[in-house]
Amino acid sequence: MSTDSAPRPANLALPAPDFPWPDGKKCALFPGFDVDAESVWLGMDRRNADRLVTMSYGGYEARVGIPKLLELLARYEVKATFFITGWTVEAHPTACEAILKAGHEIGHHGYWHLRPEPGDLATMVEEVDRGFDALKRVLGVVPIGYRAPSGESFTELLALLRDRGIRYSSSWRDDIRPYRHVLPDGPGPLEIPVNYSFDDWNYGITHRMSSRALFGREEVLSIWRDEFDQTREWGGVATMIMHPQVSGRPMRYRILEEFLQYIRRYDDVWWTTGREITAHFEACERSPR
Ligand SMILES: [Zn+2]
Repeated sequence: MSTDSAPRPANLALPAPDFPWPDGKKCALFPGFDVDAESVWLGMDRRNADRLVTMSYGGYEARVGIPKLLELLARYEVKATFFITGWTVEAHPTACEAILKAGHEIGHHGYWHLRPEPGDLATMVEEVDRGFDALKRVLGVVPIGYRAPSGESFTELLALLRDRGIRYSSSWRDDIRPYRHVLPDGPGPLEIPVNYSFDDWNYGITHRMSSRALFGREEVLSIWRDEFDQTREWGGVATMIMHPQVSGRPMRYRILEEFLQYIRRYDDVWWTTGREITAHFEACERSPR
């Protein structure tokens, strides 16, 4: 009997290779938006479909949040990645088409925004395939990036995503630089880890199920500036998890704008998308130094 009985992660990642960022940049900023709309509330409890005020948190996204954020990104000439659920693209095609027309990357974010549960691969096969189908049918897009709804994943899901053509995941929290997953049968998708400090949901939403106070401008900016500055020192990627129903709210929008202004002071930051990071990393893998 093995004495090594401690639980181990099912997939063991290789150490992050020391690939430089392109063009001599010191670090990367990856603005990611999770377009959940009402599906995040449906994914928590399907009975929320009849709770119309609960649903209206998500409805804000298509009515106000997405148009406002697209205007902000255009003003700063920033390209971002929008991870959209299949439910959202079917329910709000016009808002999602505007994201695509503005030149942003579209990523996969499940269908019902169900949190992946280990041991239930069948549900995830349906979630993943239905999400692909909706993005293709409504937007004509085949995404290469995936962000796990509610930030959970497991080995068989990663293998499924790879086999369906997903080239990168942006869900893990175990590094500040991209790395490649290793699955039992070979390489998995690239991981562009998220930074939980840059998840606006932590600071900017309160509702019936979680009636905590909101965080104010100075608190959020203080965290974001400090986190970004040290990530930059370490040469990492600041991966953001923004939600239009949070950062599309008036006061949160101003916080995000001030943060973009702050980062603009540096000329050594690579403002980029998941697709571009993946292409760069894959090129480095093909031609290591
Ligand atoms: Zn989400």
